Amino acid sequence: MADCDLCGVARPTLCPVKVNAPDVKAAYPTGTWRGINEECLHSCHEANLNRMPVNGAEKCDLCGTRNVPLFQVTVQVPIFQEPYRRELNKAICSNCFEACEETLRRREAEKEEHHH
Ligand SMILES: [Zn+2]
Ligand SMILES: [Zn+2]
Repeated sequence: MADCDLCGVARPTLCPVKVNAPDVKAAYPTGTWRGINEECLHSCHEANLNRMPVNGAEKCDLCGTRNVPLFQVTVQVPIFQEPYRRELNKAICSNCFEACEETLRRREAEKEEHHH
């Protein structure tokens, strides 16, 4: 099991998303990987289609970049009591949106291959 880097929920497998994280830029100048679960990947995709600017967020919740436009992503987190899920608002930068789209495209391509 691994914890999603966006919502913190543990999943057997996560989707790799390549981000440019400023805190490790010296070690990984071409970008580093974050793992998010499938639900969050789709939440990011939805949020990218309908971008809602976030005010008051300091940095991107995925890559940690500051002083860039941030957009709201609503993720669903399971909880142990009614209604068993809670909505969490996260702030994502446009670079990370692109990275999520890239991951989605790669996944679609892999699915295609399995069909043939
Ligand atoms: Zn997640
Ligand atoms: Zn970001």
